[in-house]
Amino acid sequence: MSDTITEQSRNTEVQTLQEHFHRVLLSNFPFAAWLKDKEDRYQAANVKLAEYLGVATPEELIGKTIHDFFQSDVADGISAEAQEVLTNGTTIQSEKKYTVNDSVRWFDIHVSPITIDGQLIGTVGCAWDITERKLIEQALAESEERYRRVVEVSPEAIFIHCKGRFVFMNMAGAKLLGAGNPEELYGKRALDFVSPDLQDKVAKRIRNAWQRKDNPLIEEELVRLDGTTIPVEMVSVFFTYRGKDSVLAIARDISERKRMQEELIKSQKLESLGVLAGGIAHDFNNILMAIIGNADLAMMRINKESPVIENLRRIEQSAAKAADLAKQMLAYSGKGKFVIEQINLNLLIEEMLQMLHVSISKNAVLRLKLAHTLPLVDVDATQIRQVVMNLVINASEAIGDKSGVIAITTGCMDCDQSYLKDVWLIENIKAGFYVYLEIADTGCGMDKFTLEKIFEPFFTTKFTGRGLGMAAVIGIIRGHKGAIKIYSEPGKGSSFKILLPASEKPAEIFNHVPTQDNWKGSGTVLLVDDEETVRGIGREMLQEFGFEVITANDGREAVDVFKSNPAINLVILDLTMPHMDGEQCFRELRKLKSDVKIIMSSGFSEHEVTQKFVGKGISGFIQKPYKLSDLKETLQNV
Ligand code: ADP
Ligand code: MG
Repeated sequence: MSDTITEQSRNTEVQTLQEHFHRVLLSNFPFAAWLKDKEDRYQAANVKLAEYLGVATPEELIGKTIHDFFQSDVADGISAEAQEVLTNGTTIQSEKKYTVNDSVRWFDIHVSPITIDGQLIGTVGCAWDITERKLIEQALAESEERYRRVVEVSPEAIFIHCKGRFVFMNMAGAKLLGAGNPEELYGKRALDFVSPDLQDKVAKRIRNAWQRKDNPLIEEELVRLDGTTIPVEMVSVFFTYRGKDSVLAIARDISERKRMQEELIKSQKLESLGVLAGGIAHDFNNILMAIIGNADLAMMRINKESPVIENLRRIEQSAAKAADLAKQMLAYSGKGKFVIEQINLNLLIEEMLQMLHVSISKNAVLRLKLAHTLPLVDVDATQIRQVVMNLVINASEAIGDKSGVIAITTGCMDCDQSYLKDVWLIENIKAGFYVYLEIADTGCGMDKFTLEKIFEPFFTTKFTGRGLGMAAVIGIIRGHKGAIKIYSEPGKGSSFKILLPASEKPAEIFNHVPTQDNWKGSGTVLLVDDEETVRGIGREMLQEFGFEVITANDGREAVDVFKSNPAINLVILDLTMPHMDGEQCFRELRKLKSDVKIIMSSGFSEHEVTQKFVGKGISGFIQKPYKLSDLKETLQNV
């Protein structure tokens, strides 16, 4: 009995507690709660709901419907939901936006059916104000969207890898690695896209990043899907991606920068080699001048029956070969350009034909494809002949013992910048009309390595080669502001296309003075040169032709001598001399006597300097080392 009493009082206690709990719950808690009957009328509500619906106490809500507080469309929605809960007998949870007390708020709403003794009597609901959370979510979503856009449109490649495998990358990243879209690469190992010899280094950087240490920007090389490599500049840092420790890497393609650096180094190398070659050639020429001149004079003076004649001839031949080498070096240095004429390349080739035929191997067939009409070009014909000769001989050597064809083609084309992009010598080349001269052969062709080095002086793959032919070609083409395009593959032959700017000036007519044998001159010649040997041999040569000769060591002395010797009718003037150089001396002499005949001479001269004389009336030019016959021809023309 006593047990029943205790149990009853316990029950009352519990009941009191529960009522208390419900009251507190309904009045103090920060959410709205209500109970509605089947007709959607409020039967119970808490303080918060009264507050939301704008009434003073919950009691005022009893018997009212939502239509008493909201506009009909909003209220209809709420009733329809309650109806659905009644019909289906299940809870509906939703997030909705309502205007309460003049401010728009978000609510998380739960509506459930309520039954008593198995009897459905209505619905209960509660609504949480979740506006703050919504605002934060929205701000996060916006900022995520902003970053997503930044990453998407970034031209730099952005990668994220987690445990060494790609989990994210932007389109630029996919493209850099040669994929069509980022998804293709997700899950792949990041290190597999790094050049094998750099993998250790990169792995270390990834570990660094992992340990949240800073990594400097470094250059590395990536391997693309197709196996090609691409140089990049890269930074890797620690990053949290979707809650996981990851590494963020940003890479920039630097192949263009690399290419330009290499080009610069290459052109600097060629330039310094050019200066070197030019300097050697200059000194060489003065020495050869003495050798050739003395051999010439000796042959002339010696008894024609003497056995020494043959030795002298050999000296002359060897010296001529050496002079040829010096000429190639000079051409390479770009300092051998002297006489610019307007010529038709077709005529130049035709004139050379005989010589070309005897220079090439018996197995090679020479084929000409000359354009019908060809614009003229402003060139030094001797140098262009040298180019043709060097190219044709290389072509013949490439054909070797097999049989093959050497085709020489001329034509004219309008070159735009894109065509001129992959030619050699782009430094100073402009878009426009170019006359081209192409020499193609069916010979052995070249590999990449040879193509890279082809213009370097002394680069040769031949047993007997000297490696100066192509160096001279590039020097000459550079001097003519031209360009050269090469196509070649091992075993498939080669083609060299020389582009020369078409002349803008109208054609001039040149008269050629025929040379006479046994020619003798008369009068006084002033020979100006700072080289003792040149003065010596020059004097002897001139005397041989019947001239009186006076010499001078430099420009200053020449002017003095000229003043005190009115009988001088011709001056042979060296270009590079101490005290007063040839150019200055030329002007001084002109001042003293405006119609004085002056022949410029040089073994080495800057193109610009000689260009200055064009049109200023130099009577001629003779390049050192000169032979008797060269001197005679020049003198005859004067
Ligand atoms: P050399 O002819 O004395 O070797 P060049 O400067 O004329 O020197 O040529 C340099 C190198 O370029 C050659 O040794 C050869 O390897 C390559 N070369 C030049 N022209 C051709 C060609 N038409 N076919 C194949 N290789 C060539
Ligand atoms: Mg050669």
